Amino acid sequence: MQLAIPRPGGSPGEISAQLAQRAMRVFPGGITRNTVDRDPGLYYIGWGQGAHLHDVDGRQFLDLNNNFTTLIHGHGFEPVVDAVTRTLRDGTCYSNPTVHEIALAELLCDRVPAVEQVRFVSTGTEAVMFAIKAARALTSRPGVAKIEGAYHGAYDWAEVGQMGSPVTWGPPDNPRPVPAYHGQPSAVLDDVVILRFNDIEAAVTRIKANASRLACILIDPMPSRAGLMAPDPAFLEAVTRVARENGILIVADEVLNLRQGYEGASARFGLDPDLVAMGKIIGGGFPIGAIGGKRGSMAVFGTALLSQGGTFSANPVSMVAGLEAMRAMTRDNFNRLETLGEGLRARLQASIKHAGAPFSVSGSASLFRIHPKTVAPSEYREAFLNPAESRAVTRLDHFMKDHGVLMPKGAASSLSTAMTTSDVDLVAETFEKFLDTQDFQHDE
Ligand code: PMP
Repeated sequence: MQLAIPRPGGSPGEISAQLAQRAMRVFPGGITRNTVDRDPGLYYIGWGQGAHLHDVDGRQFLDLNNNFTTLIHGHGFEPVVDAVTRTLRDGTCYSNPTVHEIALAELLCDRVPAVEQVRFVSTGTEAVMFAIKAARALTSRPGVAKIEGAYHGAYDWAEVGQMGSPVTWGPPDNPRPVPAYHGQPSAVLDDVVILRFNDIEAAVTRIKANASRLACILIDPMPSRAGLMAPDPAFLEAVTRVARENGILIVADEVLNLRQGYEGASARFGLDPDLVAMGKIIGGGFPIGAIGGKRGSMAVFGTALLSQGGTFSANPVSMVAGLEAMRAMTRDNFNRLETLGEGLRARLQASIKHAGAPFSVSGSASLFRIHPKTVAPSEYREAFLNPAESRAVTRLDHFMKDHGVLMPKGAASSLSTAMTTSDVDLVAETFEKFLDTQDFQHDE
């Protein structure tokens, strides 16, 4: 089918609107994952190149979504395209291992201090799931402690508590295990202990009180959906200490945050995990997940205590794509992204200050989030939006999109190596223009 040829004189969004109509017949809600941007309407992508996406209606966007932070080199990164094209001709999956999986595993083991061995899977969800299962197999305990509001994919125990609201989340020192979907089994909820990020005292008390049934503490060092806030080093230290004292494993979810640096997020923020879930950037734009960790913990995968398979695990296409993408992420490239990110966050903050606007910015390295809050949140409850704040986020989202900048709502925006300082200028200048258009006094 011919894509991306807007009809001369056609109305804006016309082709997308037609596709959306077709999609309504075959997909519930017209989409095949609920995370797709539908506000104010669906727009279909024709192609991506470098830092940009082009929709089928002829519009170009600077892509700060990067498929939810996956594409650290942007779209159509040549070394990945070449490697995948070559690999395709040799067949795309076999039941036997290939040299490619060893090469990608070696790269991860060489770079990430907490990763001495690896198992590959096909998604971040599976990586988190198998890390939790490994922790259970090692400890003979069922329970998982996790951070309120943090997103870890779709494994039942990892999903609990990601969607609480002031009505459901319970008292601050005893957060409820809020179900992630209607009908989630109470047996699952009973085995999840919710901790508030950066609340040291309550976290330590709750971990101690539940220690005998906890296999692991699942922790993303900078949880994106919960607010993309920096961890208090004392929080990570206290949680780790009480975990070690009680034979509970630390599982770091770095599916998103491995892009925090050459050695990943745990190394950056001073967390010393037993197991690490990885995904996104390590697949170079193809489906991937990986569980890594210390030799002693990873050994369980080689025993009868835990079974782990996966039809597409370690498929050669994802392996070569990931290897090329990660090889190109040299220390220099991480540093360059860090500098771009720092510069952008500083400019966003400066324009907020200049406008006296009720906004703030969080994030680090190549990641940022703009909050409609005067003070950047330090945990999920502070990041949670009231109706007026939600409207402010929608106005920002629409304004940026109308000016050619795609920014995920309620999640981390990310930079890619395909971006230049002029791309960063566009983001900063568009945000500044947005602030100029707002009348903050009248939206209380
Ligand atoms: N953990 C985190 C922190 C994530 O951000 C995501 C995906 N957004 C996942 C796990 C799940 O990964 P996937 O979508 O590949 O299953």
